[in-house]
Parts: sequence; C-alpha cells; structure tokens
Amino acid sequence: MKWLPSVCTLLLGLGVSAAEPIITLPIRFHLTQGATMTVKGQAMENWVKPEELTGLVLAEVNRIWKPAGIQFVVERAQPEALLKPKDFKELLAVVENSKRGEEEVAGSGRTAAIGKLLDPAQQLRSALNVYLLPYIGATYQGYANLGGNQAVIGVWTDKASRGEKPPVKALLVEAEPMKVGSLARTIAHELGHNLTLTHPDKSEASAVGRLMGGAKQGYALTEEEIAKARKSALKHQGK
Ligand SMILES: [Zn+2]
Repeated sequence: MKWLPSVCTLLLGLGVSAAEPIITLPIRFHLTQGATMTVKGQAMENWVKPEELTGLVLAEVNRIWKPAGIQFVVERAQPEALLKPKDFKELLAVVENSKRGEEEVAGSGRTAAIGKLLDPAQQLRSALNVYLLPYIGATYQGYANLGGNQAVIGVWTDKASRGEKPPVKALLVEAEPMKVGSLARTIAHELGHNLTLTHPDKSEASAVGRLMGGAKQGYALTEEEIAKARKSALKHQGK
C-alpha cells in the first residue's frame, strides 16, 4: 500500500518511518588468532566462536540498530591469523601494558601496534570489517575509525574494575536494561562510529541510556543520530 503523507508525519519521532527502506550493510568478522596476551596473570586468547557472532551477537546488534532501519548481515566470520612481524612480541607488550586513558578513535601507541598485526589482505573494502582481538588495552572495549570501515574489539575486558583487576571475558549479549555492556553492544557502538556518530557530551543530561554514550549508557539512538547514520550507511553501500 501507498503511505499517505499525513500517516508518514504521524510516524516521525518513532524511529524510522515505515515508509523508509531498510538499509542492509555487510560485516566481515575477523576472529584473529595467534596472540596470547597476559595481563595481571590472566592469559587471554580469542574465545568467541563464529556461530556466536552470526547467531546471538548479530541478533543483538540488529535489535539495537532496528530503530534506525539499518540491518547488518554477516558476509564472513572466520578465524584469521594475525601478521607476525619481527617485533610481534613487542607489539603485543605495547597493547598489554597500555594504560587507561581518554577514549579515542585513533592515534595511541596501542592503536598503531594493533594496526601492524592486522592483515590487510583479509580486509574487504565493501564491508564493515570488525576485528576481534583477545585484549586491546586497559579499560578499552573497542575503537573504530570515524566514518571508515574498520572496528577493533577486545573479547576480554577490565573496564568494570577500571583496570584494577585481571581482565574477564566480556558478555556476548546482555538482557536489558544494560548493566555492564555486552560484546554485542560494543560492536553496535563501534559500528555507530563507522557510521559517523560521535560521543554525546557527558554533561548533557539524558533521560535514556544512549548507544553512543554520554551521561547515561544504553541502547537509544536519537532522531538526529539515526538520520546521520542512515546517510553514512548509504555511502557505505556505494563502496
Ligand atoms: Zn566510542
């Protein structure tokens, strides 16, 4: 059926109008292998299975992004060897020893170190490339390039203890309301950065927890964020 203009107007403010087409974007999951990282006596390897990404995790990412009318599909999810440059051990040590700091999208020593371990030959230009590593630095759960197509996620985290205690395995998914945040939420948040979204100002009071952070963490996307992400998603589709 054809939507009457008045009906469309009524639907505004409830996420994307039913008349807006769903935008589908492919994700290539890279389950990196070959690095054992140790922090505070905890040895960490990648423990996430491909079927967990294509099943539970993808479902939660899509639940979070549904109000924006953006749907992700898994193009590939498979184990991949990390590169083994001569300074492999030193690069891992940079990540293991990185200190808690301001969240950033790029530029720190650990970001550069991780970048040297990711195999560019495995990257698919037309997809969003999500790399899973054992650990990505003290209190960090993920980072992404703004408007780009790469995100890096740690499957072990010490965010809850602010880096005081040994890292623990991240939750794959978490029932609402959000308490600690799941791997799926971290992925959904980093994909938000790939779709050009930035962190809201922490001083901005928020009644609802937001996916992109700010005063309160959660899953909500604002109308403004939805419009911005959809515009970027269409650009990603054209790549
Ligand atoms: Zn962020």
